Amino acid sequence: MTFSVHGLAVSRGIAIGRAVLVASSRADVAHYFIDASRTADEIQRLRVARDAVSEEITRVQRDLPKDAPHELSALLDVHLMLLQDEQLISGVKHWITDRLYNAEWALTTQYEIIARQFDDMEDEYLRERKADLEQVVERMLGYMKGVASPVLPAAPPPTGRAPRQQDLLLDDTMDVPLVLVAHDISPADMLQFKQSLFVGFATDVGGKTSHTAIVARSLDIPAVVGARSASQLIEQDDWVIIDGDAGVLIVDPSPIILAEYGFKQRQGELERQRLNRLINTPAVTLDDQKVELLANIEMPDDTAGAVSMGAQGVGLFRSEFLFMGRSKLPDEQEQYLAYRKAVEGMNGLPVTIRTVDIGSDKPIDKLAGRTQDGQLNPALGLRAIRWSLADPPMFLTQLRAILRAAAHGPVNLLVPMLAHGSEIRHTLSLLDFARAELDNKGITYGPVKLGAMIEIPAAALTLKLFLKYFDFLSIGTNDLIQYTLAIDRADESVAHLYDPCHPAVLRLIADTIAECNAQGKGVSVCGEMAGDTSMTRLLLGMGLRSFSMHPSQILAVKQQVLRADAGKLQRWAQEVLASEEPAALL
Ligand code: PEP
Ligand code: MG
Repeated sequence: MTFSVHGLAVSRGIAIGRAVLVASSRADVAHYFIDASRTADEIQRLRVARDAVSEEITRVQRDLPKDAPHELSALLDVHLMLLQDEQLISGVKHWITDRLYNAEWALTTQYEIIARQFDDMEDEYLRERKADLEQVVERMLGYMKGVASPVLPAAPPPTGRAPRQQDLLLDDTMDVPLVLVAHDISPADMLQFKQSLFVGFATDVGGKTSHTAIVARSLDIPAVVGARSASQLIEQDDWVIIDGDAGVLIVDPSPIILAEYGFKQRQGELERQRLNRLINTPAVTLDDQKVELLANIEMPDDTAGAVSMGAQGVGLFRSEFLFMGRSKLPDEQEQYLAYRKAVEGMNGLPVTIRTVDIGSDKPIDKLAGRTQDGQLNPALGLRAIRWSLADPPMFLTQLRAILRAAAHGPVNLLVPMLAHGSEIRHTLSLLDFARAELDNKGITYGPVKLGAMIEIPAAALTLKLFLKYFDFLSIGTNDLIQYTLAIDRADESVAHLYDPCHPAVLRLIADTIAECNAQGKGVSVCGEMAGDTSMTRLLLGMGLRSFSMHPSQILAVKQQVLRADAGKLQRWAQEVLASEEPAALL
């Protein structure tokens, strides 16, 4: 029966595919298709893992101390029984042989199916056996991770290309398009999906500018977040339409609905082709104002996408993605090579590298050192520059790596979340120290322009202080909105109050742009607002001439720029700023 689930639209377009339910804790499990000739090997891998886990449990059981509670041995019996469970084994085999899932993916898929059956059980004792099944599956996954495939091989699907929506016609083969449905996915895990095969995704939680949503946008696949109970309502393998424009999921669609969305999908494709014609067109308004369109990237390889969309540089390299999802922080050489790769990838165009913005909804792995466990309010806690200043050796390592990369092309160094004069001075003195360290060792480095992010209202209200020290400012609207309105950007329950057009937010943005323009300093917007075409005219009217966004948004924003008359927009922007309901005028 068809039903729909509503959430927040975060990444445009329509995706149609079969649901793959991924538990949040297992988002880092490898998901790839195997070659049809390898099904027996894959089943064998599972068998070996199962036998190894069985042996381990039997050994533990044998070595139990005499005074161990009787229940412990009984519990281990349950685990041994679950390992031999026919539903688990035959299900996993099905996913491997019929759908060509790799072993880990097949195992977690079947686990999700059985886990739901446990959830539905009346008997409490039986319901609780789900935890045992989970432990058994975790052990097998752990075993396979240690001895088998890498976490995420970039293996092509069997046909040698990514599955596409057209494959919908190839009913019931392993080649059907797949959409990912999860309760939550961390930004780091989301990044793994960059090389994956999903054509769309949906999560129960998250706000429009949560970092998971931001990564989804950078993947440029249709996505909906904040869809509340989607991962409960949707079942493994259900057909799902993800409408990333409207923020709606349609489950088990009827043929008529499918045809309608198929049509929308083709329209979207045509629109993209039309925009592609603008790639080499300079971004200039009708009244001859040049506008700079820059790219936001998460990894050095993203520069290829930025260049292909005609970006005039990188306005925001979120360097923290190099630090996430790993057990050890990257050392100076690794960071230097990554930054250098980005610089070289832009072929002489400037690259703005932001120092790490760890914390809040971008935690690092527990093993990698300090985590935020126990922090009451991480968005207001040890995040971004605060995190860096709290660990000078870590920060100096990053600063040296950025300075060294600057020897290979133009680099801007951008500092996130500054609010206090003391933080500014501390940061600058560490930068001097990093330079001195490199001088002492005779290591080559290059010049950098220095920028600060304006994303805390306190910063926007003390611009003169910032402009005294920095060459340019970059407005982080995602956080500026969050901190001005006291709305957690990642919390879907207050997403309706996360309002980019609130008069207070617009005032802070307009004043920042005006002050920089008056002092002849560079200013750009690198929050999600820069890529939102409904805001382009207003930002132009406020005097903004530099926008940094996901490469996939560049052409749509350019189209707005080409149609705009900046002089007329300047007068109109003043009216919008004076209005009680600015959104009504856009
Ligand atoms: C912002 O806050 O607008 C910004 C660009 O930084 P991030 O989204 O990474 O916090
Ligand atoms: Mg920010």
